[in-house]
Amino acid sequence: MAINKQWHLENKMPKNPTLEQKIKWHTGHAKNCTCRDSKEHLKKLKLK
Ligand SMILES: [Zn+2]
Repeated sequence: MAINKQWHLENKMPKNPTLEQKIKWHTGHAKNCTCRDSKEHLKKLKLK
């Protein structure tokens, strides 16, 4: 599990994110960082 600190500093999750914002965040996150399982998260978010 590696944290891309720089990416996290530049990409903060909004306080009350919309589904669209969450998907955007996790899409960017999956490409740049592996500290959370964003790919699994995206699957679930897109099912809704
Ligand atoms: Zn991360």
